[in-house]
Amino acid sequence: MVLDQTVIDEIEQVVGKGGYSLSPAVLYTYGFDASIYHNTPDIVIQPTSTEQVSALMKIASKHHIPVVPRGAGTGLCGAAVPIKGGMILAMQKMNKIVRLSVADLWVDVQAGCVYNDLNAELAKYGFFFPPSPGSAEACQVGGMVATNASGMRAVKYGATRDYVLGLTFVRADGEIVKCGTHTIKDASGYQLARLMCGSEGTLGVITEVTFKLTTKPKKSASCLCGFDSVVAAGKCISALIAKPLIPASCELMDNVSITAVNKALGNPLPAVNALIIVEVDGETDEIIQRDLKIVEETAKEQHATSVTPSFDKAQIAKWTNARKSVLASLSALLPGHVSVSLADDMGVPVSKVPEAVAAFQRIAKAHNVTVATYGHASDGNLHTKMVLDPTDKGEWDRGVAAVGEIFDVCIKLGGTVTGEHGVGISKALSFQKERASELSSILAIKQAMDPENILNPGKAAQWRGNMLTHLRYPCKEYVN
Ligand SMILES: Cc1cc2nc3c(=O)[nH]c(=O)nc-3n(C[C@H](O)[C@H](O)[C@H](O)COP(=O)(O)OP(=O)(O)OC[C@H]3O[C@@H](n4cnc5c(N)ncnc54)[C@H](O)[C@@H]3O)c2cc1C
Repeated sequence: MVLDQTVIDEIEQVVGKGGYSLSPAVLYTYGFDASIYHNTPDIVIQPTSTEQVSALMKIASKHHIPVVPRGAGTGLCGAAVPIKGGMILAMQKMNKIVRLSVADLWVDVQAGCVYNDLNAELAKYGFFFPPSPGSAEACQVGGMVATNASGMRAVKYGATRDYVLGLTFVRADGEIVKCGTHTIKDASGYQLARLMCGSEGTLGVITEVTFKLTTKPKKSASCLCGFDSVVAAGKCISALIAKPLIPASCELMDNVSITAVNKALGNPLPAVNALIIVEVDGETDEIIQRDLKIVEETAKEQHATSVTPSFDKAQIAKWTNARKSVLASLSALLPGHVSVSLADDMGVPVSKVPEAVAAFQRIAKAHNVTVATYGHASDGNLHTKMVLDPTDKGEWDRGVAAVGEIFDVCIKLGGTVTGEHGVGISKALSFQKERASELSSILAIKQAMDPENILNPGKAAQWRGNMLTHLRYPCKEYVN
């Protein structure tokens, strides 16, 4: 669509000349997120207040213009890609910590605040906001709420939605809605703030969030355990939890991921077939020693080929960095190949992790594709990345077929097609399968809150068609 000058003038009255851009370079750039998709918007606007967002939504509603709220664009499933063009509402100027009450255990923060910036402030008071996504340095808290982001620590500390006490959002018609409370407990009817968690910009534009605070544990240590197979590593994770031991985090890496990281970063990890890195945390050294001993004993019972506990912060940082580098390292694994987020973040019950990873390996072999499996496996969250030649239609087609089967396995095991990254485009068809019995209710909620269908239209429950439409790679058969 092309925006006519009347609309641009109305937008300029709200945000001023410097508050929007029509530059082709800017528009092109904002057509990406970190997924495999791209589509160019018609205008990029950077609002500075909830009132501006409200005025912009009234303009969009009046002229039936699609609107995609955007955080840092680190999403991996295409949720922030404006597939129908229209307005991008880029939230980076709304980045302030508005109020903090440590005595009441809450903080009010604008949606565009970067996760790490919020935690840097909370750390001054001994508190933290735990979800810890791998994109912590860039992703915004509004984007985290909109995708219900989490990360390494979810098994012990939960996901973003577990910390949302309330929030302010702007509806499609421009109405400002303040929902939730500043209390730790709240039983007052429908929890609209929860409804916005995972809404991916389809129900409203989140402008401010009230998060519950929690204290940061004083001590931690880690243990790296090597295994002969990823299935054996997966079995160790459920054995650990059944002890019982809830680790602060437990990261799994298969052989493809380990090889890629060792090649890219000069061997920071042992050359084993699979590994887990288990982190324990707590208030005292005694707690850490006790929990680390449980980890070591369990790993040995589960036939670990190596068990390396460490209190050394530099060593642990090296392991953590290695694990966080999987995604980028995979693109350097094979010449002419890149790692792509097709089926990138499924969740299964923890005890089903071994069965799931064995199935992923079978499926990859059957379709002749390279799949790396890694993830926050102690909460059942498995990442798979496919390493393929992005110009080769055959590789994409085989990849998509493999992905469909991987999703089916996860659904059959009682899991989900997305544990933390969200639905967007790449999981949309399988999400519709997974949530078949909820789908008409989901669409009814969307219709009630956005009757004109202008908020991030065509995504998730509304997606129709091939999941390679809008591909950003130079594959001539699929290029958008
Ligand atoms: C290297 C890397 C590692 C990652 N690791 C993790 C991880 O460990 N855990 C995890 O959960 N995710 C991870 N991600 C995915 C991503 O970082 C998260 O989904 C993150 O929460 C997205 O935040 P964002 O600000 O970048 O949102 P965007 O990508 O800009 O947007 C994501 C979705 O949220 C919507 N949205 C954004 N802001 C708003 C708002 N204010 N109001 C309404 N809707 C909004 C958008 O419309 C879109 O649908 C990773 C990504 C990368 C690139």
